[in-house]
Amino acid sequence: MKRTIKDIDVAGKKILLRLDFNVPMNTKTGNITDLTRVLESLPTITYLSEHKAKIIICSHLGRPNGIRDERYSLAPVAQALAKLIKCKVSFANDTIGEDAKAKISAMEDGEVVVIENLRFDSREEQNDPEFAKSLASLADIYVNDAFGTCHRKHASTYGVAKLLPNAIGFLINKELKVISRILSNPDRPLVAVLGGAKIKDKIPVIENLLDKADTILIGGGMAYTFIKALGGEVGNSLVDEEKLSLAKEYIEKSKNSRAEIVLPIDNICNLDIDSSEKPKKFVSTKIDPNYMGLDIGPKTVKLFKSYIKRAGTVVWNGPMGVFENPLYAKGTNKIAKYVAKSKGFSFVGGGDSASAVVKSGYSKKIDHLSTGGGASLMLLEGKSLPGVDIIEDIEEQK
Ligand code: AMP
Repeated sequence: MKRTIKDIDVAGKKILLRLDFNVPMNTKTGNITDLTRVLESLPTITYLSEHKAKIIICSHLGRPNGIRDERYSLAPVAQALAKLIKCKVSFANDTIGEDAKAKISAMEDGEVVVIENLRFDSREEQNDPEFAKSLASLADIYVNDAFGTCHRKHASTYGVAKLLPNAIGFLINKELKVISRILSNPDRPLVAVLGGAKIKDKIPVIENLLDKADTILIGGGMAYTFIKALGGEVGNSLVDEEKLSLAKEYIEKSKNSRAEIVLPIDNICNLDIDSSEKPKKFVSTKIDPNYMGLDIGPKTVKLFKSYIKRAGTVVWNGPMGVFENPLYAKGTNKIAKYVAKSKGFSFVGGGDSASAVVKSGYSKKIDHLSTGGGASLMLLEGKSLPGVDIIEDIEEQK
């Protein structure tokens, strides 16, 4: 069990709090379009403030590639945070520089200073020891509550944790508990719905779930590699040729494992992603050589629904089609609806599936909408997260 902020005395201490303030912004207006990540961080910030800690919040935002770029400044996020909590929030326009040091030394117990985007310094993503040391010198204690970046070994998620007494916050604790329950003791049947394009990202998840889940429904671009591996004709659909034999192996394995793998039976197809032709429906194993599968078809939706409806637990990661285009979003939206309406416990990984759920208007009905796409996938693969591993275990404290 990892040490949490409840296990440490934070009063009067300077806490370097790593959060995931990587919020989506409208690049034209500079406005934040979704505050979920800030809202999810509030319980930890509020707890620390009420317990009289001095809170130094650090985060990354976007991909400024180690260069100062005002479009990725955390200033608007600090402003948004100030409106959401009672305590005073200041903003420092650097990370380990003079402004940060001055604002931190001027802060009172229970107050917050948000320092500038960590990725304005290339040393952050390189997990540079000197940068980690400078970050550590700002505080007495390190707390990580940035679940979305826990799968990365960066200076602020890994290097700095080695240099200070440390703990996790409430958000990471909640995410770990939920995924651990799904993998160890789920309400059954456990139904996993996997989609998206990058089969290499999902293969380790399938491998781990073969003995844990009862059903694995595969949709999205990655389904065609499986369909082709079984001898189906998939036309110009996305296929990862290098993974064909592995896909076949998993289907064979599934015959002797707990989980049944279920593939699409019909698809919505077109000549290419941008074609202005009317989409056509094909049986999944007989797609016209000139067409590519871009969404699951209505029969597949119905088939997948029948499993999701009966699920005691449903885990979803990855869209069922090219959902960015409304022509091919139907399958993903329908699955979002059925996952949300499922009587079982519903878990949706971050990234595309989370935004599809939000877009479909069903996000409030999801039991757990994870804040980390990559991090939750890594846990579903059965691996641990570097940013969590580095935090001390509570037993080791005794
Ligand atoms: P991933 O990052 O692997 O979860 O993939 C997400 C992406 O998969 C989205 O941008 C979708 O547009 C894309 N995608 C889903 N289904 C298909 C498909 N049938 N063909 C091509 N791309 C797809």
